Amino acid sequence: MTRKRTGGSLLARLQRRRTRRKASPFLIRERTLARRKHQCPFCHRHIEEGELEKNFFVCPECSHHFRLSPRERIRLLVDPDSFRETDRELTTLNPLDFPGYEEKIRRVMNITELGEAVVTGVGAIEGWEISLAVMSFQFMGGSMGSVVGEKIARAILAGVRLQLPVVVFTASGGARMQEGIFSLMQMAKTARAAGRLEEAGLPLFVVLTDPTMGGVTASFGMLGDVTLAEPGALIGFAGPRVLEGTIKEKLPDDFQRSEFLLHSGFIDRVVEREKLRSVLAFLLKAHTRPRLD
Ligand SMILES: [Zn+2]
Repeated sequence: MTRKRTGGSLLARLQRRRTRRKASPFLIRERTLARRKHQCPFCHRHIEEGELEKNFFVCPECSHHFRLSPRERIRLLVDPDSFRETDRELTTLNPLDFPGYEEKIRRVMNITELGEAVVTGVGAIEGWEISLAVMSFQFMGGSMGSVVGEKIARAILAGVRLQLPVVVFTASGGARMQEGIFSLMQMAKTARAAGRLEEAGLPLFVVLTDPTMGGVTASFGMLGDVTLAEPGALIGFAGPRVLEGTIKEKLPDDFQRSEFLLHSGFIDRVVEREKLRSVLAFLLKAHTRPRLD
């Protein structure tokens, strides 16, 4: 019996996988590893300590946008010292008694130093006040359970209460399977909150980051008045491999990437991270009513 040839060492195989542009949302471990080693996972350029941060966590060689934690995102985005976090105390329970769920949550909380897969609060961009929600893919794949949905809905409704525009950064693999039907209910809850914001005449700006999939795309992710995306972000409902298996056809290489979705009219603009703050400030200025004080 001959063993199937797998094509070289483990390292060689990993490197070949990294060069494939069509990455799945589950490449997070690989990418986190590459970032720790200060190497771009796509062009393999060595990145000096501090160089990545100075360059908005974008590879200077190939413009690959590294995934950000909510804290990094907020630091790059809002005016210094303007952010006040809300609903930090909301923590996840185990409504279906899913085996090992509480332990997993505790472990991820320790690793990420986050309470859940989204950070919400109020801050300002170039002086324009906003209610902000930033999701984290590092926290259980950014999956949307009850607390994530509740925090996002509350951040949107804070916009109604405080008469502020709302900005949401998505990063998610979809619904959280450990919470079953309760996860799916979050789609209706967040979508209804977005509806309330619209009724109040306030804008919702959504920024889709890598990756945004499943229930998040299928709810508030696609309900923004203006939908922006970071370059090269994977955005869709079901993953490309699932689709290929269903329709039995090969999909285009850039299928479900920001640029493809821009071309097909799903999103309004692909914005490089360096320009995101000024583009959002422009949108806020254009869509915010002047205050009467
Ligand atoms: Zn690169």
